[in-house]
Formats: sequence, structure tokens, C-alpha cells
Amino acid sequence: MARAAYVHVPFCAHRCGYCNFALVAGRGDLVPSYLQAVEIELRQQLAEPQEVDTLYYGGGTPTQLGPSGLRTLTELTAHWHPLAAGYEWTVEANPADMTSEMADMLAAAGVNRLSLGAQSFRAEKLRVLERDHNAGDIERSVELARERGIAVSIDLIFAAPGELLAEWLDDLRRAIELRPQHISVYGLTFEKGTTYWSRRMRGELLQAEDDLERDMYISAIEELAAAGFEHYEVSNFAQPGRRSRHNETYWRGDEYYAVGPGAARYVAGVRETNHRSTTTYLQRVLAGESAVAEREQFDDESRARERLVFALRRLEGLRRDEFQQATGFAMDELAGEAISKFTSYGLLADDGDRVRLTREGLLVSDAMWPEML
Ligand code: SF4
Repeated sequence: MARAAYVHVPFCAHRCGYCNFALVAGRGDLVPSYLQAVEIELRQQLAEPQEVDTLYYGGGTPTQLGPSGLRTLTELTAHWHPLAAGYEWTVEANPADMTSEMADMLAAAGVNRLSLGAQSFRAEKLRVLERDHNAGDIERSVELARERGIAVSIDLIFAAPGELLAEWLDDLRRAIELRPQHISVYGLTFEKGTTYWSRRMRGELLQAEDDLERDMYISAIEELAAAGFEHYEVSNFAQPGRRSRHNETYWRGDEYYAVGPGAARYVAGVRETNHRSTTTYLQRVLAGESAVAEREQFDDESRARERLVFALRRLEGLRRDEFQQATGFAMDELAGEAISKFTSYGLLADDGDRVRLTREGLLVSDAMWPEML
């Protein structure tokens, strides 16, 4: 039974050059239709309210709904996804949108975790990333959340075009100084279909060299460990007891509900993904049609393989006996060959009971998963 729910909010003021998420830029006029569609979709999917332990509003930029739009969304989810005692409720926020009115609204609704798309504290890097906030906005957002007892997670991007290692270290230190409960770090990627991709093809933007990107990632692991953060997933670091419980649902391979354009849900062994285009999503849902664009029924073996790959992203890795108990499959029956190969390359550590990524494996993990799926 799913105990986690995700709500995709597809609005941003502007589409940043590197971003390939499902969203619309500068279309605040669609907010009322979106809120209506989410209500319809929740009713279609759930039929009756489903209690959850974790709720996550992601985007896009949920705070682009403004305090009043967000309040409406919180009322909808409060009805359809009542929160169990000890819940975790995360809202992603653009630091530029965080005012005391917004923070008051979030706290009054019961939001207890704010995920800030900070990316950098440096004006030049934020300009290159096409972000519309500044370091002062990040500091103010953290303070507004802290005053209201809301935990903070800070997202940072490294390996931006032209970025030096010393500049990245400065970003890390400034994030640590703000004493957030959680920090996520992501290497900048150039994805097909983004303006960054075409600008790189035209030679206007230089991608960081592999060695520099690697040094930046390793320095993040070291700096954050020294500051008391536990590295618990490839990109995620938490103060003790402050891991993202919602994201752990995905990494454990557990089921979850989801609504909104492009949102993917995994319920009763079926993965469904909604239409990515916000306008198509709205047209379909408001006309009483299904938002679903793709449906994939997983057999037991594919479920087990997915679980293996997601679980290996976590630094604690996966115990053979737990995996067998959870899935009915022996880990070696599914991926024994790949595990031995990657262990011999020094990318996985295997003590016979547990398999986990090594430091080297962390650096190339994305290239390893296809061989296990
Ligand atoms: S603010 Fe975030 S979600 Fe919106 S366009 Fe920029 S990177 Fe993408």
C-alpha cells in the first residue's frame, strides 16, 4: 500500500537553460485550471482519501502558485492525502519567492520541510544558470523557515560552465554555514532539448572537464562529512535523523501516489506517467479524460531489478538476505554477473552479505545501472 504522495506543480517564472522538467514558464494564468485539474485527478485516482506518511510538492516551482494558490493546493491534499502522525511534508521553493507571508502560510498548513533550489550563492554562477534569485534570498528563506520550525534542504549545482574548484568550495561552505538539515548536490547535466544543449553544440557554453567535475563531487563528500552530514545517497547528505523520508520511498522501491503534469505514480504494481505537457494535461483532465500517457505493468522480476538498482544508490547498499525476503529473488540470480564484474573493477564492495557502492562506484554509478536492469 502506498504511503507517500507527490504533487507536481509545473509553474516557473522562466525556464532555466539547463532544465528539462515538465513545466510551463510565465503562464500564471493557468494556475486556476491547474488547481481544478489536480482536484479532479485526485478524485479520479483515489476515490476515497488515502493517508500518507510523506507528502512532497515538487516542480517546476510550487512557490510560483503564490500564498493563495498554494493554500488551495494544501487544502486539496489535506482532504485527499491526510497525513499520519510523525509525517514529513516537503515543499520545493524558489528562494526569490520566499516572503514572510509565504512562510506563514506554509507553517500554518503544517509543511515541515522546505527544499530550496539555491544552486549557488555566487551572482555570476546564478546568472549563467539563469536563476532569478540571489544569495540574500537564500539566507532570508533559511531564516524564515527556521523561525517557524521548518527544516531546510538546500540544493546546489556544481560544474557550471566556467566554475572553478575554489568557487564550488565557497558555495559548499556558505551552504554549510546556514546550518540546513539536508544538502543535495548535483553535477550540471546538458540534456537534449534544453537551450544549454544547443548552446554547447554551438560552442557557446563549455562543459566542465570530467576531472574537475570529479574533484568537485569528491570535495563535496569530504566537506559535508567534515561538517557532520551523513552521505546517504549518491547526491544526498543529511544531518543525523534528517534524511528525506519521501525520497527514501523511491530508493526502497516502495509504492507512491502522484498527480500533476508529467507525474509518475507506482500503485498496485503499475507505473503510470501523466502527460508531460501542462496544456495537454489540463485539456484532458478538465474534459474528464485520463491524464495518463504511459502505463507499465511490472512483473515480479522487473520489480525486483528496479528495487536492486534504486537501493544500490543508497550508500548503505543492500543486504542479500533482505533483498531476497522483500522480492523473493536471490540478488545473484538477477545480477550476479554484473555484481562480480563491478566488484572486480572496484566499483562495488561485496562482503558476501551486503553489496554497496565504493567511492569509485559513486563517481560512475549512472553508467552501471543499465547492466542490472
Ligand atoms: S526554477 Fe527549477 S524547475 Fe524552474 S526552470 Fe529553473 S531549474 Fe527548472
